Amino acid sequence: MKLILYHSIQIQFVIDMAVQKIASDTLDFILASCKASHPREFGALLEADGDTIVNVIYLPGTDSTSRSVSFKTWMMPNMPHAGSVHSHPSGAVRPSEQDLIFFRTNEVNIIVGEPYTRESWKAFDKGGNLTALEVVDYEFDDDEFGDDGHDEDDIDGRFDDEDGF
Ligand SMILES: [Zn+2]
Repeated sequence: MKLILYHSIQIQFVIDMAVQKIASDTLDFILASCKASHPREFGALLEADGDTIVNVIYLPGTDSTSRSVSFKTWMMPNMPHAGSVHSHPSGAVRPSEQDLIFFRTNEVNIIVGEPYTRESWKAFDKGGNLTALEVVDYEFDDDEFGDDGHDEDDIDGRFDDEDGF
């Protein structure tokens, strides 16, 4: 019994190291979605590219008509995902007991509080502990735009004034 527990802690530690960043465009999309849902909760899963969260997976079945998002619905499809995000219209960016249970199935969990700004969100690990998530510029693969010579233009100094904590 102790041996099994020890192994699972080791595995969790390795997984927890993976996601450390979120694309600034993805964060802005999340903030806008939370704001649009207000006063109801917004909830979605997050997908990562390597160590960076880049996609929001919105599940149409998510019931946000009640006071809290239905986590059961989120867990039903066994799709690979890096994390979760949901909003707290009350503005309190603190996980509830139900949140902490759900967090265990996700590497990183974002809670966004009203007023849904870059200063009103926090990230938590599987154990419900605050975790750092660096906001970074990320170049999305998009066939509509050529990407030759884009690299220099994409460094626009936004790294410095954003940290979200
Ligand atoms: Zn919550």
